[in-house]
Amino acid sequence: ALKVRDLSMAYGDLDVLKGVDLDIAPGTVTCIIGPSGSGKSTLLRCLNRLVEPKRGDILLDGESILTMKPESLRRRVGMVFQHFNLFPDHTALENVMLSLMKIKKMPRAEARRIAEARLAEVGLAERKDHRPAGLSGGQQQRVAIARALAMDPEVILFDEVTSALDPELVKGVLDLMANLGQQGMTMAVVTHEMGFARRVADQVVFMDEGRIIEAGSPQQIFDSPQSERLKRFLAEVL
Ligand code: ATP
Ligand code: MG
Repeated sequence: ALKVRDLSMAYGDLDVLKGVDLDIAPGTVTCIIGPSGSGKSTLLRCLNRLVEPKRGDILLDGESILTMKPESLRRRVGMVFQHFNLFPDHTALENVMLSLMKIKKMPRAEARRIAEARLAEVGLAERKDHRPAGLSGGQQQRVAIARALAMDPEVILFDEVTSALDPELVKGVLDLMANLGQQGMTMAVVTHEMGFARRVADQVVFMDEGRIIEAGSPQQIFDSPQSERLKRFLAEVL
């Protein structure tokens, strides 16, 4: 389980997270929604220590990630970004293999075996020897997802992974993520795709101005929002 406790973070003088508490149970999908600038990406970035919080703690199975060795954190918490972050000079297969060899210190042959299996799972067996430039945006994002999956993480964080994709490529990536959720992967997903959140999430979290304003089931959040802010947000995006 992932537990966020009283988490605060600031960029200089700008308070971006103001006491966030959040529980993510194993095998569940949490979708994080909210207006631009509300702190969604910053929250995810704290969860894998791309930025350091100012106060509070983040526990992964009871162990604080703030004192965890960077290698074990990289192994245990996966992240997929809006802009893929693949190595442009390496093929899809090499992109997945490299993390395994570097972070898991896996021998090349074993890394290749796992990378091939993961790429096949995301539907890219045929495209594995192409570099990112030779793949569609949707395919590049699948490589990034395969790379995260290959580490066998306890939780995967997704930050608006379909926002940079051409509209016709969005559904394939969302379907892949929905499948992962169904298979029991623990996921925290920042998304503007309200249909996805409603369909796939076990828990939906609404953030505004650095705070969690409401959290609950998709039915609670979308069908009976309590706060004015969430009602206003939903009126704008739905
Ligand atoms: P969006 O939906 O637009 O992605 P978000 O909810 O992910 O928004 P964040 O990226 O977490 O929002 O940003 C929260 C606040 O922190 C914003 O006011 C933003 O301008 C500010 N911010 C984000 N990154 C930095 C940075 N590297 N340096 C300074 N301020 C930042
Ligand atoms: Mg963001």
